[in-house]
Amino acid sequence: MAKILIKDVDVLTLNENGDVLRRTDIAIAEGRIQAIGTVPPDLDADETIEASDHVVMPGFFNAHTHAAMTFERGWADDLPFDRWLNERIWVAESALTSEDVRWGAYLAAAEMIRSGTVGFADHYFYMDEVAQVVEEAGLRATLAWCVFGKGAETEIGRGLEESLEFVQRWQGAANGRIRTVLGPHSPYACPPEFLSTVAEQAAELDVGIHIHVSEFRDQLEGSLAKYGVTPVKFLEQRGILDHPTIAAHCIYITPEDMEILQAKEVNVVQCPNTHMKLGMGVTPVPELLARGVNVALGTDGPASNNDLDMLEEARLATLMQKNYHLDPVILPAELTLRLATQNGARAIGFPESGVIAPGRPADLIIFDFRRPHLRPRHSLLSNIMYAAKSPDISHVIVAGQVLMRQGKLTTLDEERIMYEAERRAWRMVKQDMHIVRAYELGRKQ
Ligand SMILES: [Zn+2]
Repeated sequence: MAKILIKDVDVLTLNENGDVLRRTDIAIAEGRIQAIGTVPPDLDADETIEASDHVVMPGFFNAHTHAAMTFERGWADDLPFDRWLNERIWVAESALTSEDVRWGAYLAAAEMIRSGTVGFADHYFYMDEVAQVVEEAGLRATLAWCVFGKGAETEIGRGLEESLEFVQRWQGAANGRIRTVLGPHSPYACPPEFLSTVAEQAAELDVGIHIHVSEFRDQLEGSLAKYGVTPVKFLEQRGILDHPTIAAHCIYITPEDMEILQAKEVNVVQCPNTHMKLGMGVTPVPELLARGVNVALGTDGPASNNDLDMLEEARLATLMQKNYHLDPVILPAELTLRLATQNGARAIGFPESGVIAPGRPADLIIFDFRRPHLRPRHSLLSNIMYAAKSPDISHVIVAGQVLMRQGKLTTLDEERIMYEAERRAWRMVKQDMHIVRAYELGRKQ
């Protein structure tokens, strides 16, 4: 494994004290940060990155996405959620092939590396293809094969049985860069008995769960009408929350739900871009954080975002909360960057990542600050949070491997990926398509 020396760099450590270091050196060996400041004399670096006027920080962790939905980018915009699903998304997926998922995931991987994401939690179909892409791209990922439990015709793949095989096949692969969990779609789309079965299987295999929770008010009202409890309480009753859980959205939750989320140590993922675009609402992030819940950020899929840019997601997360609460003090810059990095790493099962410190995994990104919009440098942290753009990222390193060097991807053939993805996405939407399953709650038009 390559030894890397980053020279003369400024550092946002995001350690406990929030230390910011100026003009220092970082030594990387065996996939980890070996030293900061004093470089060991025996380092003998294979690669030296001259990084004066650059800033290094922990890479982003995207804690909820559907990477291969890059194929549906721009395919379903400006629609209410029920029509978005029933007329566009769950229709296009009837024509989806495993090859489509492979190229959709390649396209996503290229985009994620370019925008500084080092790890992501994916929830989709044909996940063996995604795992192969992750292995080749050099990223970290926690992968779930999405299942519904409503009969074979509603699944893409063989359903729970195939997802259990997938989980075992890929757990810990790529030197631990790949983790697997179970992916029941949601409390509104999965039958109660099926969720109990998933919880039992999670116990059997000792794996976590990634699920959508309480995205719209009608889901809360539907759950109360059907089961007499909120979606969060319902998931607790089915045993889902007894396992490490990534719960995407959690918008319509009660104070009692928050207590459950805290007690069960559920990881809540806010996806502000998607929440705003689909008119979903606001996850009570400050309240959850005050209770000690681990809150992370996700882009959700590119069919609802429409990109995978975590820097933008972080900025929207803080702006959305400030505006919603009419309080500019809420969710300050450093805290928000922690949500986008270390909280995400923890949520998806890479708890050592998200801090620049000796001994930690070398999962980091470097911003080129030789830009008019990044001067002056009163605060490096503020410039990244409120002014930087993802193309300012020059280098991305994951587990000590350089995935982007001076803006050039090292592990992926970007030209071929863009060509194949474009061609195959067009082919997909030209097929005869039918609705795979229906979202039944639906707001009235
Ligand atoms: Zn989602």
